[in-house]
Amino acid sequence: MMDCPLGCGPVEADETPLRDNRMGLPHVVHVAWCRECGLGITVDAPPRGELAALYEQRYVGDEERRVPRTGALARAWHAVNGSLPLTDLVRSGPVLDVGSNTGEALVALRARGLEVVGLEPNRQAAAVARSYGLEVIESAIEEAELPRARFAAVLLSQVLEHVEDPHSLLRKVRGTLRPGGVVFIVVPNAASVWRRMFGPYWVHWHVPFHLYHHTERSLAKLCAQCGLELREARNVTSGEWLLMSLAVQRNARHGRFDLESFSGRYGRRLLVAPAGRIADALHRGDAIVAQAVSSR
Ligand SMILES: [Zn+2]
Repeated sequence: MMDCPLGCGPVEADETPLRDNRMGLPHVVHVAWCRECGLGITVDAPPRGELAALYEQRYVGDEERRVPRTGALARAWHAVNGSLPLTDLVRSGPVLDVGSNTGEALVALRARGLEVVGLEPNRQAAAVARSYGLEVIESAIEEAELPRARFAAVLLSQVLEHVEDPHSLLRKVRGTLRPGGVVFIVVPNAASVWRRMFGPYWVHWHVPFHLYHHTERSLAKLCAQCGLELREARNVTSGEWLLMSLAVQRNARHGRFDLESFSGRYGRRLLVAPAGRIADALHRGDAIVAQAVSSR
């Protein structure tokens, strides 16, 4: 059996087969768990080349209808719904968004007067972002050359769980941070009560794309090993995502493994909101939203 990549000791196999439940991909994988830090590792993900091809074919930004991110009413909605806009936490630029996709976060930050740069491996997504006049470094995250001490903020929203070598990525990110700069990290929370409740139908497994499944503890340990100190970690359970897990569970009963017909109607989101806010307060929410600063 393999060891936890954070150096805790051997990991334990989990027999539960997991499959993609968003796009209906046929891959079935398994996760092994570290008892010490809670990290999950996808042990039988497809080889790198096959994953790269899947990203290229299947992974383009969603054009989902969204509540605007500004204004008092919108803020109140996000507070109730649990859809914390990460961009609201960013105070200063320049900002690098790693995995900037079609540039939605960058547009929001630019509107607040901040200098923004994207990093995006998907050609199609990068082209959409450029059509908004955004600067995008089009490169695989692992291979990107980042300028030293350039950025005051780096966004790693739903990125760390996708990369093969998170240590190397975080060290690179630390190198591109200015003194006093902040890394904003969002990852699914493997210690989530929703993961327990939905089991293999939890929408945040997102295998075979997610290679790691983090907890607050594993995230803090990983950051520390890369010269970063985790300062704040709150939990966020978006009503929309909670409804997606419910839809996945319902679909699976009918032998379906995609979310194409999903509609997270706003009224339903209000119904699930109280449970979401309780789980978040207990640090057992769907996702971890953390801030890390350079510790040296
Ligand atoms: Zn561990």
